Amino acid sequence: MNEERVLNALNALDDTEALLERRERLLGKAYRLFYDRPVHIVSGEGAWLTGADGQRYLDSYNNVPHVGHCHPRVVEAISRQAATLNTHTRYLHEAVLDYAELLLARFPAAFDIAMFSCTGSEANELALRIARAASGGSGVIAVYDAYHGNSQATAELSCGVGGAHADHLAFVPCPDPYRGEHRGDDAGERFAKAVEGAIATLQERGHPPAAFIIDTILSSNGLPNIPSDWLGHVVPRIRAAGGLFIADEVQPGFGRMGDAFWGWERLGVQPDIVTMGKPMANGHPVSAVVTSAEVLDAFQQQSGYFNTFGGNPVSCAAARAVLEVIEEEGLQQHALAVGAYLRRGLRALQDRYPLIGEVRGSGLFNAVDLVEDRETRAPDRDAATRVVNGLRDRRVLIGASGPHGNVLKLRSPLVFGRSEADFLLERLDTVLAELAGSGQT
Ligand code: PMP
Repeated sequence: MNEERVLNALNALDDTEALLERRERLLGKAYRLFYDRPVHIVSGEGAWLTGADGQRYLDSYNNVPHVGHCHPRVVEAISRQAATLNTHTRYLHEAVLDYAELLLARFPAAFDIAMFSCTGSEANELALRIARAASGGSGVIAVYDAYHGNSQATAELSCGVGGAHADHLAFVPCPDPYRGEHRGDDAGERFAKAVEGAIATLQERGHPPAAFIIDTILSSNGLPNIPSDWLGHVVPRIRAAGGLFIADEVQPGFGRMGDAFWGWERLGVQPDIVTMGKPMANGHPVSAVVTSAEVLDAFQQQSGYFNTFGGNPVSCAAARAVLEVIEEEGLQQHALAVGAYLRRGLRALQDRYPLIGEVRGSGLFNAVDLVEDRETRAPDRDAATRVVNGLRDRRVLIGASGPHGNVLKLRSPLVFGRSEADFLLERLDTVLAELAGSGQT
């Protein structure tokens, strides 16, 4: 380390302490940070971040800067539109219509309506309201430990076992063939039975189902290898009971999975309503509900829709630039190829470290399930925490997920390449070797 770097690092340390104190004082204690030693980031480019300590960090976690941090094309689109006009959405403007056309072109013809909001939570709220109006029902079925947002209705749907219990909600265990209640080859059928039970429960409580909502890759559940047939059994039963199928694409959407543009396309069942957000405009807050005029009909008869910021000209310029960059830079295909390369490397590590129970994923959304024992598959949360912090100390940012917090979550911007994968794998190898050497796994 040269002198300048040492000074930077020392200043950053002071700075971190001061920022932590200010943050807690000003924002309160509900806010959470990542890592035992939180990172203070000052700039980003592509898949890399620069810290206040002057160090470069590999971003292997963020799905918001979908096409890369500060992508010049997106920055330019935002700047140009912001310098021309930005306003609420009650005037005529082409930007929202141009974007709606481009977005709907990514869907089968049956989807002919796009409505805009600012966050994934808002998009899911709106989807639930539309489903309630269309079905006449009030019940909602969701998967335990899923995450659908921070508003009242979506937070109630985002609970672990033993969480929120309201009469209009019913939860079903995740169809995880690796661990838990549905472990085994028949996870799909067992899941369908659980949903059947949930439908009956809601009906008995006087809340016939309005919607069945899933994150189409079950990311908060630790990205299980979803049985291919699981929704084929379920969605017809929901529809027979009057409910609609809402696909939450906040995590997998926009090409991240490599083999499909949307998560729902990988499941073989077409949703009635699709919601999206996070990666949509590379960090500019915009989200959407995509559905059909037919599904929307009852809602629009009952109520109007207005969202001050949702679909404003600047958001739409950013979102449009993202779609164009994905297409022009071939980022979906890139995610497919680099993801496969990364998983090969992760599986090579699995051969050497018994701590790794399973490597899962597709494209640039990957998971490494850490276990105390490969037979019992007991989750090793403690090891996951150590790996996440160990990588952070080696300037690689990842997260942990799953109901047991034992699944390493690798979800980088889509511009992450093979050299970045090598950087990540090499450092992960070092951290795993240290853990194995210290006897802590
Ligand atoms: N749905 C899913 C699957 C999510 O992962 C998230 C956010 N992590 C949301 C909805 C909520 O999005 P937002 O934070 O933009 O409200």
